Amino acid sequence: MSGPLLGAWRDRPSPMLIDGELISGRRGFPTADPATEDVLGEATDGTAADLDRAIDAAHRAFHRTGWATDHRRRVHCLRQLRDALTRHAGELRELTIREAGVPRFLTFGAQLDTPVSDLGWFADLAERYDWTRDLGRAEPMGIPSDRRVTREPAGVVAAITPWNFPHQITLAKLGPALAAGNTVVLKPAPDTPWCAAALGRIIAEETDIPPGVVNIVTGADHALGARLVADPRIDLISFTGSTATGKAVMRAAAENLTRVFLELGGKSAFIVLDDADLRAACSYAAFTAATHAGQGCAITTRLLVPRARHDEAVEITARALARIGVGDPGDDGTVCGPVISARQRDRIEGYLALAVKEGGAFATGGRRAARDRGHWIEPTLINGLTNDARTAREEIFGPVLVILPHDGDDDAVRIANDSPYGLSGAVHGGDRERARAVARRLRTGTVSVNGGIWYGADVPFGGYKQSGIGREMGVAGFEEYLETKSIAEGAP
Ligand code: NAD
Repeated sequence: MSGPLLGAWRDRPSPMLIDGELISGRRGFPTADPATEDVLGEATDGTAADLDRAIDAAHRAFHRTGWATDHRRRVHCLRQLRDALTRHAGELRELTIREAGVPRFLTFGAQLDTPVSDLGWFADLAERYDWTRDLGRAEPMGIPSDRRVTREPAGVVAAITPWNFPHQITLAKLGPALAAGNTVVLKPAPDTPWCAAALGRIIAEETDIPPGVVNIVTGADHALGARLVADPRIDLISFTGSTATGKAVMRAAAENLTRVFLELGGKSAFIVLDDADLRAACSYAAFTAATHAGQGCAITTRLLVPRARHDEAVEITARALARIGVGDPGDDGTVCGPVISARQRDRIEGYLALAVKEGGAFATGGRRAARDRGHWIEPTLINGLTNDARTAREEIFGPVLVILPHDGDDDAVRIANDSPYGLSGAVHGGDRERARAVARRLRTGTVSVNGGIWYGADVPFGGYKQSGIGREMGVAGFEEYLETKSIAEGAP
């Protein structure tokens, strides 16, 4: 892999972006291709001192420049960033495939092209947003007062991201945070530092985003994230990652009462009603569960099928998963690539062993794929469990689907909602109104009915229950990054 962005990083660690400067540290840590285990190169291993300078720069840029109030400048910079990323789309695509193991077809959508173009949506929103609303005159306690409500940026945002959708998640934070007038310190996942470093380089070299407005600190140690969220100079934490880490983030934030916005894990249900086209629904459920080796927070990983057709559903789904198989993420037809790391593969294997202990059986898969190098798990269907099993309740984050029988719509809704999570869901049925009614009863932040796609810049995304707090994307996602100030003027 080479190109103008990445070519230089073969010999020295990729740089961080701090206060407008690209800084290559002395210490690096490796980043590798999960499909081959080839080391791509090194990224700078940021230190506590680097983080401190980044927070300081973001604080200064927020309080001492016009960034927070100059809407037009921000809109210009966001469009410029979108255009610059678009110019580098070819190189970024290969990087995303190699560093995150993302199947190529996804980079034409949610893994790269769509979130890049969505920056334009946030620029447009900032341009037309009602920053000040006039509430008119009132006379509280007999005092004539002209009241208005203004929206202002929250301040310095700590953005912490996972590795599974490295551009989508980063840009879904950066777009609205910058459009709203905040400054940002981004701490990307240790598994995908080059995706973040490439963004830093483009920001520094090809945009007018002022120094300190975006800072990117890469590092191998999760402690960097822990340090960032505990810093009293941070006004808002925008975190995406596992529920366990989200809880640690929230605990740390409580010390300074820092606002938190959390996008966490899921164990979403795919409900097939008894009037659905079983073959089409189960095939689609298999495709979804295997996509990007199941490494998506909103992927539906519990398949609920009518009890009377359970065995047929197992057969259809298992066959579809087996047909999908695993493939090189660089190939056009690959749906299920590698899992990100040996650690993640071991974790998934732990769940596969647990499934057997819990009484489950593999209708297909259930083991590593036979490949010499890389981290691979075969698309897997587990049957014979109930929704009480840990395998059916906990997020596995691999290409593993658990199939469960239901006894009608009420029972399906009960099982779907019997989860600590509430991120997403899907309903398939022949009668649209009936499917809609089931969708309305799901306690989740997004629901797809009969294959509808909810993903889009204007669609709020997020979770109920332990899947998170707040919404990303859409107007709701933009407003996460705002404060509200009410001003009342004594009338003359
Ligand atoms: P993770 O929770 O291990 O790490 C996420 C990020 O948090 C990383 O950058 C990590 O370095 C950092 N971190 C770790 N400990 C920290 C701490 N104590 N304080 C602050 N930061 C800390 O998650 P992961 O394994 O990188 O990603 C997979 C998880 O992300 C899955 O659970 C998945 O469901 C979730 N996810 C959620 C969404 C969503 O929008 N809801 C999207 C994608 C992924």
